[in-house]
Amino acid sequence: MNDRDLLVEIARSLAAHSLSPGTSGNISIRTGNGWLMTPTNARLGALTPERLSLLDTDGNHVAGDTPTKEAPLHLAVYEERPDAAAIVHLHSTHAVAVACLEDLDPDDALPPLTPYVVMRVGRVALVPYMPPGDARLVELVRERARTHGALLLANHGPLVAAPTLEAAAAAAEEMEETAKLVLLLDGKRARRLTVEEVAELRQPPTS
Ligand SMILES: [Zn+2]
Repeated sequence: MNDRDLLVEIARSLAAHSLSPGTSGNISIRTGNGWLMTPTNARLGALTPERLSLLDTDGNHVAGDTPTKEAPLHLAVYEERPDAAAIVHLHSTHAVAVACLEDLDPDDALPPLTPYVVMRVGRVALVPYMPPGDARLVELVRERARTHGALLLANHGPLVAAPTLEAAAAAAEEMEETAKLVLLLDGKRARRLTVEEVAELRQPPTS
């Protein structure tokens, strides 16, 4: 499957799982000569391959529809993470709800409740709130992306960079599922995975 078809398919899948309310959420992939991105004001469930925005290596829009207004966030993360080939950013309901909670751990905003969030997402960094489109938000995202592939933008939503689009989408979905658990367990005494249990999951397989 080519890059355009894959991006459209993943966008539809995220929309089908109700992870992109309205026209929210945007996706990008690194190509050989720039980036493909979802357009502004587009429903992720109703995209076609031709409409995707093509940006050159300097981030200039060169073909397709006008790119998402959140393109600068994507470009900043790619600059900081040479390993990243795809980014998924959502306004998925439960992850946004957690992003609105006070007292989140800025370096571990989604707790290690299950092995899956540890393996598919890793540690999630909280990005302090700034209004959409504000250049300071781009700089805060850039700063946190240096050390974390998964970010939770306060009062906004998750943004994940990964080596493949499939991995980025899976991580964004896992963040949403973990956020549901955080909310379900609110006020209850949940057992988190221990430091040792998390370390064991992060070790590369020995065979
Ligand atoms: Zn957003």
